[in-house]
Amino acid sequence: MGRAMEVAAGTPHGDVPVGAVIFDADGNEVGWGVNRREANGDPTAHAEVEAIRDAARRLGTWRLDGCELVVTLEPCTMCAGAILGARVKSLVFGAWEPKTGAVGSLLDALRDPHHLHTVDVRGGVREQENAELLSRFFASLR
Ligand SMILES: [Zn+2]
Repeated sequence: MGRAMEVAAGTPHGDVPVGAVIFDADGNEVGWGVNRREANGDPTAHAEVEAIRDAARRLGTWRLDGCELVVTLEPCTMCAGAILGARVKSLVFGAWEPKTGAVGSLLDALRDPHHLHTVDVRGGVREQENAELLSRFFASLR
């Protein structure tokens, strides 16, 4: 989570700071991403999707079997879908996102027994620090 928070600090100015990192089964970092929605003018450029794209490119496959994705904020519905589609093995996230979170807050997309693939989830890791990172950003807008 420390590494994801470090990555989040590099979010482009004007974008909500969110960082994601992907580790392979041996614990090697194979991808990372930050939220670039405003910077890229791309509604799909969330940190998790950017990290998944980076890892798939580097590993040369869309299947991220055995990989763990660590992100500073609870993923939204789109990112939960991307995590499932990439066959990510486990997810660790920081702050809860009561408005758009799709991994326990608004809905629980990753642990739906109807899916063929399920993801191990651990949420609320270093929750306080991650929530503060976001509240500082939103306070700076006011
Ligand atoms: Zn998302």
